[in-house]
Parts: sequence; C-alpha cells; structure tokens
Amino acid sequence: MHFCIVGAGFSGAVTARHLAERGHRITVIDERAHCGGNCHTARDPQTGIMLHHYGPHIFHTAQENVWQYVQRFGKFAPYINRVKAISQGRVYTLPITLLTINQFFGRTMHPAEAREFIHQQAVQDITTPRNFEEQALHMIGPALYEAFFKGYTTKQWGLPPTDLPAAILKRLPVRFNYDDNYFSHPYQGIPIEGYTALIESILTHPHITVRLDTAFETFRNQNNLDHIIYTGPLDRYFRFCHGRLGYRTLDFERIDAEGDYQGTAVINYCDATTPYTRISEHKHFAPWEASLFSKTVCFREYSRLAGPEDTPYYPIRLARETTMLDRYVRTAMVTRNVSFLGRLGTYRYLDMDVTIGEALEACTIMDQHLALGKPLPVFFTDPH
Ligand SMILES: Cc1cc2nc3c(=O)[nH]c(=O)nc-3n(C[C@H](O)[C@H](O)[C@H](O)COP(=O)(O)OP(=O)(O)OC[C@H]3O[C@@H](n4cnc5c(N)ncnc54)[C@H](O)[C@@H]3O)c2cc1C
Repeated sequence: MHFCIVGAGFSGAVTARHLAERGHRITVIDERAHCGGNCHTARDPQTGIMLHHYGPHIFHTAQENVWQYVQRFGKFAPYINRVKAISQGRVYTLPITLLTINQFFGRTMHPAEAREFIHQQAVQDITTPRNFEEQALHMIGPALYEAFFKGYTTKQWGLPPTDLPAAILKRLPVRFNYDDNYFSHPYQGIPIEGYTALIESILTHPHITVRLDTAFETFRNQNNLDHIIYTGPLDRYFRFCHGRLGYRTLDFERIDAEGDYQGTAVINYCDATTPYTRISEHKHFAPWEASLFSKTVCFREYSRLAGPEDTPYYPIRLARETTMLDRYVRTAMVTRNVSFLGRLGTYRYLDMDVTIGEALEACTIMDQHLALGKPLPVFFTDPH
C-alpha cells in the first residue's frame, strides 16, 4: 500500500518506520523545513549550542519497550531534570520537596513532621475540590499555593486557577524527602545528537520518502494514496468546519550572554508580576559538552492564547473545546482512508514517551487490520 504520513514528529516517524519495515511505500510530508516536529533540535549557528527550538525536551519514561525503541536510533546521555523556582525574590527547588518546605517556612523538619505540618496548612473544609485553586488549598494550603502555583498557573493558562479543573494539580507531586528529580520515571535522558537526528534516523529507510516544506493542503488532491495517517491538528484537517480548537502558544525571547547565565537548565518564575513563566539555558541540557562553550543562549518563555497563525502547543480542553472536540470526532468517524494520531491529531497533551508508546500500539493494531483486510481505524486511542 502507499501511505501518506502527515507530520515528521515522533508519531509520524514511528508509524512510517513500522509500515516501511512491513514493505509498504511511505511518503512522509511536513510543512516545516525540518524533521522532528515540536521536539526539533539544531545547533545554533552563532554558538554551536544545541537548541531545543520549540521549548526544552527531556526524555523520561517508565515504558521499557519505548526506552528500548529509542535506543535503536540514537545514543542517549543520562539527564536528570532538576528545576529551580523563583518566588518572591528567593530561589527554591521544584517539585515541592522537603527542601522547598523547610526553606520556605525557615524550618528544619523531618519528613513526618513536614507531612503533619503541611496537613495543618491544608484547608480542611474543602472535601471535594471543584477547581485548581481548591485542589491546591486542599493539598498544600494557601502559603505554598500562592508562592508556587497561583501566579505561575495564571500566566501559563491565561485564566484564574478557579476556572481550571482540579485534575491539573493532581499530577504535581509533593515530596516529603530531598529527592529533587523532577520526573519519577526510571529511564531519563537526552539524545546526544539531538531529537531531530534521532527522528531522521527512524525515518531513514529505503521505503520512506520525506518531503519537507510541504503542507498537506497542497498535497492531498495531487496524489494517489491508499491511506493517510494524519498527525497534524484535527480541526485543520476538516478546514475548521466546527471552529478552532483552543491552544496555548509560546513566545520565546532569546538572551545571548557570556559564560553561565543562570547556572542551571530551567528556572520557573512563579510570581504574577514577572511576565514570563520560565527561563531555560540550553547548554545545560547537554552537560557532557556545556563546558566547551564560552557563550550561552537562554530563552524567556511567555504563554498566550494561540491565534490562527501561531504554533499550537498546549490544548486547552475546557468545556468549550471538549464540546467542539466531540463534533470533530463525530465528523472524523465517518471519514474514510484516514487515521488521526499524535498530540495534534487527537488534541491531547502527550509526553514523548506516551506519543511513541501510542504510535507503537497503533502499529500493532494496523498489522491486525491489514492482515484481515479490514479498514484501518480512524482513531487508535480515544481522543476524549
Ligand atoms: C513546550 C513543550 C515542552 C515539552 N517538553 C517535553 C518534555 O520535556 N518531555 C516530553 O516527553 N515531552 C515534552 N513535550 C511533548 C512533545 O513535544 C510531544 O510529545 C511530541 O512533540 C508529540 O509528537 P507528535 O509527532 O505527535 O507531534 P508534533 O511533534 O507536533 O509533530 C507534528 C508535525 O506535523 C506537522 N504538520 C501539522 N499539520 C500539518 C499539515 N497540515 N501539513 C504538513 N505538516 C503538518 C507539524 O509541522 C509537525 O512537525 C513538550 C511539549 C511542549 C509544547
């Protein structure tokens, strides 16, 4: 069969490679000038530092099969994400650990004492938190909430935390020990040659042709295709017939400096009075080579609502969007010869390992359907 795969990010690359290895002919198209999707990395022409163009990406997973898969295509260096946060003019460690708690309250508590102390801080009469703010008050109390989450979350989402679902905060851990490893997954690292080289390596196969600078809209009617795997935005495929699904986008403001600008890879700025959410210093994502560079490059990150021309980053998924998503899903379900995959195709925030895991599962499902001569599913994972 001849497949057109729209998008040369992880979703597109993993499915392309699998189908190519099964003997199918694959054309991968991407409207950008590079492979890698939002994980794209490239060396800065001025300094040689490896830059993460669409924001910092750290690979972390608990899925053994996903970790084994990426090892086939690139060498990873171990990397542990240790995030710092500035709140009210002082530096802390994130996620909230025993160190954060002791520093913030000027105490020297042991784990059990700190647990009891935070329990006392927590607002006890909120039994069923209805929104982000109530969830935070219920978990950690007003002082830590206001210092670390209120301003940051308002900047990140452009909404007061009382308008956001409680579920967002359920994912943020509070640790009563000194473990400042941001992620709790057993496998963590960064590909030494960058994500784009890794994804190009996945796409290097005699049955795969990659066409960059090619938008699907210009390609869709010109070619005889048996099936399309579409990893672009779901609403865009249907020419926004039900409206635009809401996304947050990011603006990056570059800082060039000498030496070491902030001494670490990521510092979050928690106060509402600081307009950006974080500063990332990219040479610290490659500690194995950071000392080779006398210069440094950082980016201030600003979050805002995405307009029609902006890069979609984080799906908003509040009530308006989920209603619209339902309409798109219903429209998609009666469309033939197309499958939607990945973070944009299913309008969900997905980490890279989840993206790869879902693409590998999609490959297994495709094998089963193709073996039986059945049409391929429109969705491999429920977008709801
Ligand atoms: C700021 C930020 C930081 C992140 N950090 C991490 C992290 O640290 N760790 C982690 O695990 N995950 C992280 N992620 C998530 C990660 O970016 C995603 O998991 C990953 O990009 C999903 O891959 P994908 O292939 O589904 O989508 P994408 O990477 O977005 O690829 C889709 C591709 O499709 C192309 N495309 C879209 N529409 C069309 C069209 N009509 N025609 C042609 N081409 C089209 C796009 O140009 C794009 O290249 C982060 C995400 C963001 C937003």
